[in-house]
Amino acid sequence: MSAAPLMPVYSPAPADFVQGRGVDVFTAEGKRYLDFIAGIATNCLGHCHPKLVAAITAQANKIWHMSNMYQTELQRSLAEKYTKATFADVVFFANSGTEAIEACLKLTRKYHSANGHPEKIDILSFEGAFHGRSYGAINAAANPTYLAGFGPPLPGYLQLPFGDHEALKAAITPTTAAIMIEPVQGEGGVRAVPTDCLQGLRALCDEHGLLLIFDEVQSGAGRTGKLFAHEWAGITPDVMAVAKGMGGGFPMGACLATAHASSGMVKGVHGSTFGGNPLAMAVGHAVFDEITQPQFLEHVRDVANHLHQGLAGLKDRYPDLVVDVRGKGLLAGIKLTMDPLKVRQLCFEHGMLVGTAGQNVLRLAPPLIVSTEHVSEAISILDAALAAAREQQKAAA
Ligand SMILES: *Cc1c(COP(=O)(O)O)cnc(C)c1O
Repeated sequence: MSAAPLMPVYSPAPADFVQGRGVDVFTAEGKRYLDFIAGIATNCLGHCHPKLVAAITAQANKIWHMSNMYQTELQRSLAEKYTKATFADVVFFANSGTEAIEACLKLTRKYHSANGHPEKIDILSFEGAFHGRSYGAINAAANPTYLAGFGPPLPGYLQLPFGDHEALKAAITPTTAAIMIEPVQGEGGVRAVPTDCLQGLRALCDEHGLLLIFDEVQSGAGRTGKLFAHEWAGITPDVMAVAKGMGGGFPMGACLATAHASSGMVKGVHGSTFGGNPLAMAVGHAVFDEITQPQFLEHVRDVANHLHQGLAGLKDRYPDLVVDVRGKGLLAGIKLTMDPLKVRQLCFEHGMLVGTAGQNVLRLAPPLIVSTEHVSEAISILDAALAAAREQQKAAA
């Protein structure tokens, strides 16, 4: 298949998946793969979950789109579910993680300008961050690869080393507006921010009147075994971006905020044509209702323990290849001594889909509905892939 008419910004694996069921996906030829990346931490209920299929099908037969010119009861009621379940008082619905982040950034500057401090524009982020691909998001994350060639960097974004509290303290000035962080860094290498660091950030923000923004686009929606990863630290942000898992595979995102933090977000200052559309909302309700079932998150924690035990075993068996096992819950990373793309390819050849992340990390983010049997199968495949990688290295030496 020629990829010619597509803008070549990706290099997709030459496998055309045409059907998914739970944790399995199938090619047109009927070959099965175990899906341990779930559309990049997105298909949290697996493929074609009957409740999601029912929700979207029913909604598709009712109404698809009216825009925010008219109120949508499904939107109001989903916002109510999220505000009842979190720190937030209000929700803005968007269509992606990037848009959710963009809303967080705009809200932050608007908050300070509406409160008499238009000079407070600087958003502090951390090395290895990923917040999406809009201008705001790439500037906030400051990854040189994503910024190169797009003109001068935007003012108002500062990036700090990961885990250096003193450097962070020293960087706070009268123009600082907010600190933004992923409680578990996804693309940057699946690094969980230690609990005391998150608590320290909350204290710093309180002390200096800054907003604390959590990017839970990847770590939210139950992925770490709590509805949101920051709950492990017992603190709350002022603003939070959510997307990926909240739509279970349907594109949607949201910016959640306290009433205080969103005090500048009045009529006309932000908007979206598709954000909060009935199809997304119908799926969003079905996802929320499922992941907030009693025992659902307990299942995530149990199966994640099983996964991390299995990964620790691999680290013991392949000390030459596996440096570290990291992450939280069902967002797991295996830091390797070799190019993780090679191991990803070997996993593919053994019938499993996995991802990669920065710092030589192989990334696992299976659907949250995986069973311990699926996890055992994944560990066996990783075992075989690592054994093959070791053979390849020996042959090359
Ligand atoms: C994926 C991701 C984004 C961007 O989300 P899109 O839906 O791709 O726009 C932002 N932040 C984090 C932490 C992500 O993992």
